[in-house]
Amino acid sequence: MRISTITNWAYAITVVLTALSGAAFIMSSRSAVQERLAVEEHLTFDTLAEELALGAEVRSDEARLYVMHGEERHLQAFRAEEEGERRHEAAAAKLASQDLSPTEAGALQEIDTEAEELDKIEITAIEAFQRGDRSGAQGMLFGPEHERLQAALLDTVTHFRDLTATRTGMQLQAAQARSDWWGLVAKIMLAITGLLFLGVLYFILRRRVAVPLVRMTGIVGRLAKQDYTVDVPADPRRDEIGEMNQAIQIFRANGIERERLDAERRADQRTKDLILQMMHRLQACANGAELADVVARFAPQIFPDIAGGLYVLDGSQVSLTRASAWLDPHHSEVTFPASACWGLRRGRPHASGGDDADVSCLHLDGAEVTALCVPLTAQGDTIGLLYLEERGGKALRLESSRLYLELIAENVGLAIANLQLREKLTALAARDPLTGLFNRRFLDETLERYSRDLADQPLACLMIDIDHFKRFNDEFGHDAGDMVMRYVGRVLRDVVGQSGHAFRFGGEEFTILLPGLSEAEGFQLAEELREKVSSGVLSHSGRIIGSVSISLGVAASPMEGSVETLVARADAALLKAKSQGRNQTVAASRGGR
Ligand code: GH3
Ligand code: MG
Ligand code: MG
Repeated sequence: MRISTITNWAYAITVVLTALSGAAFIMSSRSAVQERLAVEEHLTFDTLAEELALGAEVRSDEARLYVMHGEERHLQAFRAEEEGERRHEAAAAKLASQDLSPTEAGALQEIDTEAEELDKIEITAIEAFQRGDRSGAQGMLFGPEHERLQAALLDTVTHFRDLTATRTGMQLQAAQARSDWWGLVAKIMLAITGLLFLGVLYFILRRRVAVPLVRMTGIVGRLAKQDYTVDVPADPRRDEIGEMNQAIQIFRANGIERERLDAERRADQRTKDLILQMMHRLQACANGAELADVVARFAPQIFPDIAGGLYVLDGSQVSLTRASAWLDPHHSEVTFPASACWGLRRGRPHASGGDDADVSCLHLDGAEVTALCVPLTAQGDTIGLLYLEERGGKALRLESSRLYLELIAENVGLAIANLQLREKLTALAARDPLTGLFNRRFLDETLERYSRDLADQPLACLMIDIDHFKRFNDEFGHDAGDMVMRYVGRVLRDVVGQSGHAFRFGGEEFTILLPGLSEAEGFQLAEELREKVSSGVLSHSGRIIGSVSISLGVAASPMEGSVETLVARADAALLKAKSQGRNQTVAASRGGR
């Protein structure tokens, strides 16, 4: 019930109770008036009876004094009293007709009769005295009959006074009782009114206002501190406090929703930040291994519920190999043919399993799992695959994160393509296009690296020059010369293999660096090279070119000299070989200088 309704009801009841208690007070005061009237009536009757008795007595006395002394003034006093008595009798008769009970009226009548009888005796005695019968008159007034009548009159008056006293006393008591009763009723009404007022005040202020307000103040305080765990109990009452409670509930629900949205926004922002960080690092990767490591580090931070792996297409474009993995994916093979993936076949993201029940990729182990394959492409070429699988039934997360996953895949694809392009460019920049060997610039860099980092490690260097190369150009044309150059380069690469690096120094001159080899070991390899080159018989455009010979100079470091002078020392040895007749190897330490 609304507080305003309660207060209205309480007000109405208070007004009614106040009116009732007012009426009770009026009734009580009316009873008091009746009480006073009863007292007045009693006094009136009492006085009247007393005056009647007293008047009779005074008249008797005057009559007696007259018959005793014969003085006229006593006769006049007797007659004056008689007049007064007549008035009293008239008043008594009037009262008797209104207020007296029959018994009282009878007693009053008896007083009247007795007083008249006394009067008759006294008048008779006065008349007898006036006739001269003095002793007869005295005998009448002092005789037993007069005595008896006087005593009877007094008794009757006493009786009458007793009767009126009893009746008015009862009336008085009844009036008092009524007055007391109405007074009590009025007091009770007032007390009830007061209690009702206090009760309503207590109920409204404490139970309906103070207690809920204190509770709500606490709740609002906690909500203001963004503590939405606070419980807002439902308050079904339909009053201002109930409305306030409802408003607080809505406020709390809004707060919780806002906090949820904030958390979502923060999580989304964190995802974006991490993706951005990952992108920056991907751009800075120097090789595929670094790139795979960056993806494996960031992916689980961005999506803690999604396991996955980065697959890279091999050079033959036929199979994929896992370059890195995160959060232990165990439903996809480590290596599989590109044709086993629906994503790669279709060239677009493909979800296996899940609610859509799409066809599953063949590289999956067939278990009930939701997986997503996002092909990595760059400029239309497929270069790998981003494989993702649910962990602990978080298929929804996989679906909701699909946009970000595709964004990541796009960036990883671009980063891999950039890396491959960079590797290709680096290779191009480091290699000689004719022979496929490393170029002079790369030789300088390599030597610089050795002299900086590995100056104390053994390193042998071979300087090689094709003998009379100009002849091939001159006799068989420039293309034939190029062919000879390619032949020598191939032999150098084959013989050196993994044990060293072969460079085209310039023109028809080559350099070979052999880490870990001494000058003698280098010399041995030089001889092997020389023999291998000269063992081949070359032809070009159907014409026999014949065999090719090379001259070699060998030097080593650090025992024989520094890395910085290595090429110069080997070159000097080569010049020696040339000057000694070509097709031979000269070691720098054996007179190459
Ligand atoms: P030597 O035995 O003294 O080394 O005599 P050579 O003829 O080999 O040496 P020379 O320095 O006289 O001649 C080298 C020639 O190699 C000159 C140049 O035209 C030619 N040459 C340099 N680079 C190339 C190339 O890339 N292709 C072709 N076909 N010829 C080249
Ligand atoms: Mg030369
Ligand atoms: Mg030459």
